[in-house]
Amino acid sequence: MQREFQFYIVPTPIGNMSDITLRAIEVLKNVDLIACEDTRTTQNILNHYDIKTKTVSYHKYNEKSKVDELISLLNTGKKIALVSDAGTPMICDPGAIILKALRENNIKTTSLAGPCAVTTFLSQIPRDNEIFTFVGFFPKTTQKSQELLLNHSKTNLVFYESPNRIIDTLKLIKQVRGNVKIALGRELTKLFEEIVIDNIDNIIEHFKDGIKGEIVCMVYQAEDGDIDIITKISKLKTKGFKSKEIATILSTLYDLNKNDVYKLTM
Ligand code: SAM
Repeated sequence: MQREFQFYIVPTPIGNMSDITLRAIEVLKNVDLIACEDTRTTQNILNHYDIKTKTVSYHKYNEKSKVDELISLLNTGKKIALVSDAGTPMICDPGAIILKALRENNIKTTSLAGPCAVTTFLSQIPRDNEIFTFVGFFPKTTQKSQELLLNHSKTNLVFYESPNRIIDTLKLIKQVRGNVKIALGRELTKLFEEIVIDNIDNIIEHFKDGIKGEIVCMVYQAEDGDIDIITKISKLKTKGFKSKEIATILSTLYDLNKNDVYKLTM
């Protein structure tokens, strides 16, 4: 027997239309309204599963203005489900604003288990340990990217990236961390799904004719020998160089932000 909540967070397929749970279908059929990023995208799923529930748009551009309307409906006893275009709401998708408001209004919520690109990816990527840092989309600026790569060399770093940027991103990772091992997942659960695990040079070579589709990527945790900046800092330190000098040397040699390198020396 399904316990009744007022607000459901419902994951939807990330590619393969069959990746939806029985519970998700049941909830989407039984709520009064489905709040979705793009009503047309969600309608495809609803049609596929013969779900007749009404939809309302709820996306990052109207998130704030829609909250009051949705809360009023919930206060009249209506039940609402939140979905995003694909995967799990709140994972690089809208939801944060309404969830905060729901908590403030003591409205009961529950989240259904289901598809999500990052977990679908990680569940097929061999790793030596359970530790990973998921940062959502890879930063857009070089400085933020360098900072991220330098500060997270000790864990597996997982991120979403667009096909237009991924090759440049891989080149930047190589600049900061060397020709390290990467896992790249493309078009997961879809017809042309692909997983490539290799060093950066080989991955760039693999995609030399272009890369399309949706991508999740992981930079493997630094291994002895492949990390450059961190090892180089400690070598320079043992030779008696001061933090400021190390920052100047390494930022000049590797074209890095001096402050980021400096912070790593502390
Ligand atoms: N909420 C979604 C989730 O649960 O994964 C993520 C939404 S985010 C706006 C979209 C990004 O997720 C894409 O740009 C891509 O990086 C990643 N993604 C979504 N579907 C994917 C798939 N089938 N294969 C690989 N990556 C995917």
